Amino acid sequence: MGSNIRIRAHHLLCIQGYQGYGYSSGFADGFGMTRDTLYGNDPIIRIIEGVDDICSVCPNLHEGQCSEYSGKVLLMDRTILGLLGISNGTTMRFKEALDLVRSHLTEKDIKEICNGCRWKGVCLFYQDRAL
Ligand code: SF4
Repeated sequence: MGSNIRIRAHHLLCIQGYQGYGYSSGFADGFGMTRDTLYGNDPIIRIIEGVDDICSVCPNLHEGQCSEYSGKVLLMDRTILGLLGISNGTTMRFKEALDLVRSHLTEKDIKEICNGCRWKGVCLFYQDRAL
């Protein structure tokens, strides 16, 4: 299965709670466009650990690495891949991935995974599940 859209595992959570905030207006526009494409077209995505298509428009991306949370976001990706029971690079339709998140991540998991994120106060996904 080919896929052009790469989504890092922890962004499967962010996408569900995103309210338009971000690190720059370019980032917010890019995130919004990606989210609209995912929900509108339900494309096949490649679920990965590490930098993805959303990161590619982020001002925190320096020399191919996220400078915002050092290694923490990579650990979040790996934790989520493990909980979902899939390996790095797995492809599936976006909405299948949402179903997998829904059926495999508990509120406790989400609370632990998202605890250090600076955006949790404006994230509907976090607020609906982990408060
Ligand atoms: S802060 Fe880091 S993980 Fe988040 S979008 Fe930017 S580069 Fe990606």
